[in-house]
Amino acid sequence: MKTVTDFFGTMVFNDQVMKERLPEDVYNSIQNTIQNGKHLDLSLANEIANAMKDWAIEKGATHYTHWFQPMTGITAEKHDSFISPLDNSTAIMEFSGKELVKGESDASSFPSGGLRATFEARGYTAWDPSSYAFIKDGALCIPTAFCSYGGEALDKKTPLLRSMEVLNKAAIKILKLFGHDDIKTVKPTVGPEQEYFLVDKETYNKRPDLVYTGRTLFGSMPPKGQELDDHYFGTIKPQVKSFMKDLDHELWSLGVFAKTEHNEAAPAQHELAPIFTTTNLATDHNQLTMELMQKVARKHGLVCLLHEKPFDGVNGSGKHNNWSLSTNTGMNLLEPGETPSENAQFLLFLCAVIKAVDDYQDVLRISVASAGNDHRLGANEAPPAVISIFLGEELTEILDAIEKGVKLGSKEKEKMRVGVHILPKFPKDTSDRNRTSPFAFTGNKFEFRMLGSNASIADTNTAINTAVTEVLNEFYDVLSIAEDFNGALDELIKKTIKEHKRIFFNGNGYDDAWIKEAEKRGLSNLKSTPDALVHLLDEKNIELYTKNKVFSEKELYSRCEILLESYSKIINIESRTMIDMAKKLIIPAISKYTKDLARSVNEKRELDFDIGYEFEVGKKLSVLCTEAYKLTLELEEKRKDVSKIKDAAEKAKAYESVVLAKMNELRKTCDEAERLTAREYWPMPDYGELLFGIRE
Ligand code: ADP
Ligand code: MG
Repeated sequence: MKTVTDFFGTMVFNDQVMKERLPEDVYNSIQNTIQNGKHLDLSLANEIANAMKDWAIEKGATHYTHWFQPMTGITAEKHDSFISPLDNSTAIMEFSGKELVKGESDASSFPSGGLRATFEARGYTAWDPSSYAFIKDGALCIPTAFCSYGGEALDKKTPLLRSMEVLNKAAIKILKLFGHDDIKTVKPTVGPEQEYFLVDKETYNKRPDLVYTGRTLFGSMPPKGQELDDHYFGTIKPQVKSFMKDLDHELWSLGVFAKTEHNEAAPAQHELAPIFTTTNLATDHNQLTMELMQKVARKHGLVCLLHEKPFDGVNGSGKHNNWSLSTNTGMNLLEPGETPSENAQFLLFLCAVIKAVDDYQDVLRISVASAGNDHRLGANEAPPAVISIFLGEELTEILDAIEKGVKLGSKEKEKMRVGVHILPKFPKDTSDRNRTSPFAFTGNKFEFRMLGSNASIADTNTAINTAVTEVLNEFYDVLSIAEDFNGALDELIKKTIKEHKRIFFNGNGYDDAWIKEAEKRGLSNLKSTPDALVHLLDEKNIELYTKNKVFSEKELYSRCEILLESYSKIINIESRTMIDMAKKLIIPAISKYTKDLARSVNEKRELDFDIGYEFEVGKKLSVLCTEAYKLTLELEEKRKDVSKIKDAAEKAKAYESVVLAKMNELRKTCDEAERLTAREYWPMPDYGELLFGIRE
């Protein structure tokens, strides 16, 4: 039997394969690109392309594709075969360096927010040598960036890579001040925990709302939800177990470090967590994970739902972005140290993240904004839309003591300087008991918990990296000119704690009292996607991104527009699906049941039977039926009106405040009717079947 190590990474053109198959100078050169971010000498591309092709063909691949991550949020690929005619009757398999490095595709259907004029329909894909190529479904997939003719980013990967590059530079400069001249690279690392639901495929296919929108637009809660907490970490059902086994196999062969799998809080909900890795790889891997989850599920008679809120009344699905910084020498910059100098360095990086999160709360909030995630944030299961940092009691006390300049636990006011003293130890395991915090320090990394399950982690990490870069550069400007480094460091840390401690919150983030308190502290609370997105174009945020060369102003404008439009499109599809379902399924079903009840009333009356049930329920349902019809017509009207609005921001806001609001009214009426209607009359599987439908 093959063991995991036999097939782990076998479908990846990774380091080991490159070493085996590339001439030494070519191998060294590409290593230098991967490890140190140096530009690759393109004259080597032919040799690399050839080696890739031979390897891929041996593994059974026939095609190659530039694999990229456009603004749709999912990955895109266009397959070309390696075949090239030799003469009229024979073909050879070819793949040139040119084809490896650059692709040209008619990309006019990808969102570009006006960056690609319609007459210039081409987009370019450019090889990203820092991510490994891999084989999926018989095609060699080459991770690429996707940009316009003018070089503007049309994807999520390019800005992420840019943000990693500037962060690397900023962190190295700071580390030099601490005497680390040996450090060549600093990379952000990420471990994204992924939540998802599994439902039975047949059941899923009978729900147009799930098929068209990924979430249920109607449906009332079954008698049992998640209140018993019996699903969380519960035994995994055999069908699900075999899905997970298959998924692990596929992920491992693609070099994805899938590690932990367990049942989550809601019935039918699960989680997968990989071992963390460099952010751009983690992004590729998370994208592959989401894709494979859906593919593998279908093979097992299941459908994987990645929507943030597939079911009303039970927890939605998120994604936790565990983030830290690591050096090529193996140092985790968010790991508290053993010596005074290590501690001071840890505190400085910690403070950089604290200031970055406080200064750019809105930027982080925007990075997780989507129509689906709006159903989670601020509901009683996920972090609120307010960003705060959880540090744990011990670390909070330490920072408090530092700010006040007193030694922890000492009554006498002995002066404490961070560059000189060793910090008191704080136990790591007590630092993560708050699950309600959006941004929690968990011992040696930060865990950002606001991401939606469906999100590409590229957006959030681009935001975190850039904000931290900005602050590190500010810190460098202060520290690099200081005559007394330790004194300046001490002062800078104190000042940062003092100015940004309003962002600390160790309490219950789900509590309404916190929202009021947050408002008092002046923290931003951008409740919905349309509210949040427009702030991407605030002067301060444009400055952040343009100054650090992560986005140009033009790119930001286009991104904002794409995101707003995408929001509007999603609500538009949801509202149309609702109208369709109400008219063709739900209202006719209520009407039919009411009619049968009415008949029964007449027939029973003739026999002088009691008609209590039929009369009462029939009457209620006939009222609800009319109400549902009226609301459907209103929704139709509103949807039409709103769809005509020209301005993207105004339109998105109207979809939220007018269309979504009306959708909620319609749902409420229909759900009430569902509760009164005999099961056999209801035209689709109910919540009970969806949530508890998988075989034991
Ligand atoms: P929990 O559910 O308690 O949050 P998990 O073990 O499920 O914990 O997830 C923790 C995640 O954090 C894992 O993906 C892990 O690889 C990741 N992680 C651990 N250390 C780091 C680090 N230094 N940088 C980034 N991610 C990390
Ligand atoms: Mg977690």
